[in-house]
Amino acid sequence: MGLVVQKFGGTSVANVEKIKNVAGKAIREKQAGHDVIVVLSAMAGETNRLIDLAHSAAESPDEREYDSLISTGEQVTISLLSIVLNDMGYRARSFLGFQVKILTDQAHQKARISMIDTETIRKELKKGAIVVVAGFQGVDEENNITTLGRGGSDTSAVALAAALKADRCDIFTDVDGVYTTDPNICAKARRLERISYDEMLEMAMTGAKVLQPRSVEMAKKYNVPVYVKSTFSDEGGTLVTKEDKEMEREVLSGITYDRDQVKITVVHIPDRPGIAANLFLPLSERHISVDMIIQNASSQGFTDLTFTVSKKDMKTAQKIVEATAKEIGAKKVEVDDDVAKVSIIGVGMLSHSGVAAKMFKTMADEGINIMMISTSEIKISCVIQRKYTELAVMVLHDAFHLEKKK
Ligand code: ASP
Ligand code: MG
Repeated sequence: MGLVVQKFGGTSVANVEKIKNVAGKAIREKQAGHDVIVVLSAMAGETNRLIDLAHSAAESPDEREYDSLISTGEQVTISLLSIVLNDMGYRARSFLGFQVKILTDQAHQKARISMIDTETIRKELKKGAIVVVAGFQGVDEENNITTLGRGGSDTSAVALAAALKADRCDIFTDVDGVYTTDPNICAKARRLERISYDEMLEMAMTGAKVLQPRSVEMAKKYNVPVYVKSTFSDEGGTLVTKEDKEMEREVLSGITYDRDQVKITVVHIPDRPGIAANLFLPLSERHISVDMIIQNASSQGFTDLTFTVSKKDMKTAQKIVEATAKEIGAKKVEVDDDVAKVSIIGVGMLSHSGVAAKMFKTMADEGINIMMISTSEIKISCVIQRKYTELAVMVLHDAFHLEKKK
């Protein structure tokens, strides 16, 4: 007998019918003799609806109250599931973040979990209950409700699995696993049986939407085996786990894209110490995260600096950067939102050479211009013109033979 954490996303709990299907999945594990903790998201579209409501009430809603509002969607689904389970004769108890006590820091809308009190959950499990926990939320030390960022239920589930030393964390979603790339734009995309934590983290951070990056970080840190599965079928699935020899043999695991990027260039900046700090400090003070950064070699005491931010931060970033540019005597600021970032990911890059060259040549052969490049040990990202996104993904998928069976 083990302990299983099951997490269901918004499309899996979109209505009562679907919640009944979720109940069936929880019961199946229970009948197999396991202790079961279910973590739920809000019904599909509900968090967006709540966010719109908040913004219709005020242009910049108070952060504390905003979290209090946007976390309510999960209260509906966890209680509904518990009602269904109880009605079917299974003891079930739902808990909000503060009831469990999922303690977080105070960073509203992107809070980090610092501690989980497992006592209440353990007590209920001992009584034979299926424990149903609201994803996406926690509580800070002053009892304010916090939220963990969009897609944060994944992180709630993995954190609970880690805290309770679960044997498995199953993430149920509307796709049957992690694919080599988005099957919606590349018909040859193949489901991966397994993927390493590091690769999954890079995939999640560069545009794959299947798991919240923070949940993967946490799974790696506490060595939680994560299964991505379909709610609607028993077939398939992908195991996110520790890296092994077999994974290294493949050059790439996947290709991702991110159209949520904006490229900002500060032109003709006097090249002296402190300039980069001057530019990026005010952005970080406004919690705008900068992704790729390129500074050109300087010529005659001047340089250009290009970086990318997320689309939602475009207006604010532009304002801030234009002000700084003036202060430091730069010539102008150019903003380009007609871009996308395409990334290739694989632990095999550590042992295979020529991967970057092959990526660049493949795109060059299609006449795709590369505007920015950034790399990590197991990832190469290129910023290109947005209209080439699908083409780049498809030709790279072919060039690296990702369609073939392992
Ligand atoms: N309901 C939240 C959201 O839409 C959390 C989640 O679905 O994981 O972001
Ligand atoms: Mg999700």
